[in-house]
Amino acid sequence: MLALVFVVMMASWAEFNDRQSQKALHETLVADALSVEAQLTARQDMEKLRLGEAANRLQLLAGDPTAALTRMPEVVAGLDRLWNRLVWLDENNRVVARAERKAPIAANVSEELRIQAIGQADHYVAPVVDAQGTNRGKLLARFYITDLLQSTDLVWLNRRYQVSFVSELGEVIATTASAARRPLGVMYGKPLSGFKDTTLQLTPFDAPESWTQHPKTLALLGGLLLLGVAASALTRHEMRLVACANAETQTEVAWRQSMEDSVLVGLRARDPDGRVLYVNKTLCDMVGYSSAELVGLKPPLPFWPADAVDDMMARNLNTLAGGAPRAGFETRWCHRDGHLIDVMIFESRLVNAHGVHIGWMGSIIDISERKRLEERDRQHGEALAQHARLNDMGLLASELSHELNQPLTTILSYSAGLNMSLKQLPGVDADDLVAMGEIVRHAGKAGEIVNWIRRQASRSEPVRAACDLNAVIADVLKLRKRQVLLANARLVTELAPCTVGVIADRIGIEQVVSNLVRNAADAVDGQEGGGVIVIATRLLPGDGQTAESLQVIVRDNGPGLRGRTLDMLCTTFYSTKSDGMGLGLGICRTIIESHGGSLVAEDAPGGGAQFSFALPLVAAPAVKEPT
Ligand code: ADP
Repeated sequence: MLALVFVVMMASWAEFNDRQSQKALHETLVADALSVEAQLTARQDMEKLRLGEAANRLQLLAGDPTAALTRMPEVVAGLDRLWNRLVWLDENNRVVARAERKAPIAANVSEELRIQAIGQADHYVAPVVDAQGTNRGKLLARFYITDLLQSTDLVWLNRRYQVSFVSELGEVIATTASAARRPLGVMYGKPLSGFKDTTLQLTPFDAPESWTQHPKTLALLGGLLLLGVAASALTRHEMRLVACANAETQTEVAWRQSMEDSVLVGLRARDPDGRVLYVNKTLCDMVGYSSAELVGLKPPLPFWPADAVDDMMARNLNTLAGGAPRAGFETRWCHRDGHLIDVMIFESRLVNAHGVHIGWMGSIIDISERKRLEERDRQHGEALAQHARLNDMGLLASELSHELNQPLTTILSYSAGLNMSLKQLPGVDADDLVAMGEIVRHAGKAGEIVNWIRRQASRSEPVRAACDLNAVIADVLKLRKRQVLLANARLVTELAPCTVGVIADRIGIEQVVSNLVRNAADAVDGQEGGGVIVIATRLLPGDGQTAESLQVIVRDNGPGLRGRTLDMLCTTFYSTKSDGMGLGLGICRTIIESHGGSLVAEDAPGGGAQFSFALPLVAAPAVKEPT
């Protein structure tokens, strides 16, 4: 089609050129015809002028008018030149004199212009006036048009055109036509003004050749068309081959794509600078980003964990330098929704068809599930080990309490006896008596604790009795006073005016409060400006479903829980202290829950930690006046 359009355009252009040439030729023809007309008009004007001059001299003639007229030099010259006959008429149109040319005109300027029809004549008229200006007649000069044409210089025209003068009836008066030279162009006719019914016909000898008459041009255009058609056919054939190859490639790509999408291994290709060139669907699902979001990115990549970007960058540079282990390496990525995934990456060199290294191909396996199972196994193993340790410790505690019971009982008996004896002796120092009393009291407390441990170990029914929690707290504070002082802390008690009312295992509750105060002292130890430990009790009213209860709160202004939950803190052997066992809070929670209450750990309002528990009141609280 394009070849055809091209050829049509070429033909149109040639056609346009032809028309332009013909137009130019026609304009030249018109201009030349006008020139001929102007030339003939000028000649006629000159003849009329000469005739007028002759008429003006007629009044000067003397003698026989005919002889005088015939001898007049103007008349002689006019007859030689063109005029064929001269007639002098008076004012009554009577012939005064006449003169005629005897021989034909000798001068034939245009030899090529051959006369075809002699006889068409015309005449000029000049008025005859005397010296006073009175009309005395007229002078008529007759001439043959063919003579006029033959005596006018039209040679310049003959070279370019076949020139013909044609009468009104179509009769050719004179022409340059000859069999030797035939005109080729189109004839142009122009009626001559100033001539009676005569038309000038010019037919150019040369005519611009139409492009359609040029075999070479036609052959060229035809050739072009054929070439275009052949080129189109070849291109069409090639296009078919390319389309087939394309279809095959697309099928192959679709196959490859579905294979890559179906594998469970994430794939990614990167250029030597680490820019992502390709990722498969599995990898996109793994990290939660679409292929469009990942392709084109350079490290750091969006799925790198924010806190490990530097490490990942260093490892990435190592990989790009060819340092990735062949056996693969483990790392951790961050899914778009924020959860971490453990992955195993195997990197291999990417080469093109010429064997040139063009990047890296990475296979990525999500090993999060495997890691989770490994972690669960590890935690399970740890829990088993902990239980075994706890068991051993329980056995040890039970054994120790059994072993210590006897010597403690002995110490208590002897010290009680000694105390009694000392009291009866005169002159004994009061301080000694106080010290002895403390020994008896502490020995008794130690015995109670050991017995309590034995009861716990032997799973015998706990001993519950009504107890005054404020008194329990006061006892504990006495025991922990020294530790609080060493921690440079201040103790503040805010006890509710309520004494009895809870039925509790007094030793157990003592252990709970004691442990909470010890932990608070440890937490505020070394605190700038000194720590404050608040121990408070509060009455909580019942709401019909739950009974009234008494709440015990131990609060400090230490570092606080720092996001840790009670479950975490109660995990067996969990401790942040160098000398801690990580058992205290767990035991506390067990004791409180065995009383039907619950241990609560929270951040204190002004900073620090607050531990609290509530025990249900079983009797109406006896309200005392605050002391
Ligand atoms: P231990 O005292 O032997 O460490 P615990 O079970 O009593 O064991 O306490 C477990 C952990 O709970 C402590 O190591 C400490 O990190 C944390 N903890 C307990 N009480 C407080 C507190 N008042 N302030 C801050 N942390 C505490």
